[in-house]
Amino acid sequence: NLTGGIVGLANVGKSTFFQAITQQSKIGDPANYPFATIEPEEARALVPSPRFDQLVDLYKPESTVSASLKVFDIAGLVRGASKGEGLGNEFLQHIRAVDGLFHVVRAFDDVDIIHIEKSVDPIRDLEIMAEELNNKDLEYGMSYTEVLERGRRGKGKTIEGKKLVEDLEIAQKVLDWIEAGNRVANGSWTAAEAEVINSMSLLTAKPMVYIANVCPEDYYTILTGGSTPAYLKKIIEWVAKHSSGSQVIPVSMSLEADLMNIESEIDKREYLAMFGSGHSALEDLQSAVPSCVQALRKSLGLISFFTVGKGEVREWTVRQGAFAPQAAGVIHGDLEKTFIKAEIFTQEDILAVQGDEAKLKSLGKVSSKGKDYVMVDGDIVTFRSGA
Ligand code: GDP
Repeated sequence: NLTGGIVGLANVGKSTFFQAITQQSKIGDPANYPFATIEPEEARALVPSPRFDQLVDLYKPESTVSASLKVFDIAGLVRGASKGEGLGNEFLQHIRAVDGLFHVVRAFDDVDIIHIEKSVDPIRDLEIMAEELNNKDLEYGMSYTEVLERGRRGKGKTIEGKKLVEDLEIAQKVLDWIEAGNRVANGSWTAAEAEVINSMSLLTAKPMVYIANVCPEDYYTILTGGSTPAYLKKIIEWVAKHSSGSQVIPVSMSLEADLMNIESEIDKREYLAMFGSGHSALEDLQSAVPSCVQALRKSLGLISFFTVGKGEVREWTVRQGAFAPQAAGVIHGDLEKTFIKAEIFTQEDILAVQGDEAKLKSLGKVSSKGKDYVMVDGDIVTFRSGA
């Protein structure tokens, strides 16, 4: 089960994002001072999914279970964290424990909200974070190569010894890459290299989705197709250069916080009118949080499959490239062990026949797949197993 963590400097909107993502309103407001969040909080974020909603509409089942992603709110980082400043090492250990990261960057002005670096400058903030993670990886990387080196000395020319020499060469190559200031996630690595990298548990090897916390007006401008706000533009440029392939998603935390507290559609409409009365996109204005969760899942290489029926419609998560028995194993270990076949159809096909599975079968649109079948995102599956 893969997990996500929320990171960023202190006071940039991480807790607000965490609440929005988990739809949990905490009692009171997140405090306006650094280190308000000390222990990483854990929550299960539901993964918003239009495909799932469509299937629920179609089957009208007694119960539903949507996919979820475990997310941790990790305490704010400060400059020098890798040298133990602030909650430094503890903070970095928490990052080490998660698989992917949301990096919240402050891109809004508000003199009332203290910035730990005393001014609003997203690029400086991005660089602080990148540098701290990079420093820590250098430290991990060096101690990892030392351990390999010590192991190698004892093994001599044995098979194990030779493997250690190869691993050492790879680790050194990765170390050089880090030393040059690069994110490990940005290198192109062979399968053998990726294996060594995995065992090094490096922070910059984790996929990162950048969350630009913009002001509501900017958010609104973006949604209505206006020009890209200055802070956001800078962030996008920086990410393209230093973390290419990562997504940047603009979110307004203050708007998200307000949206969490507005109950009716009418109130929502009235509220939104404050930011852009007269804009036709008004009704389209929605929380940005679902796309953030989807983006992290995607960057973690996760896909979904569905099980459907009158009793239950459920969305399950597997890694991209998983074989059918592995997907069965997500449901139940026994189902993997006694796997016989998977009967699969697509959402498009079942929608076309209004949920009539018998008709789908007679049309030859339910295919039977064996243990070598690689799961495709969105598959609707019934697993057949035997004792
Ligand atoms: P964290 O320290 O990164 O977890 O940040 P919080 O979510 O606790 O927010 C810190 C303070 O900034 C709180 O007082 C929030 O109300 C405020 N804040 C967060 N996001 C925004 C925003 O988008 N705009 C404004 N004006 N204030 C915000």
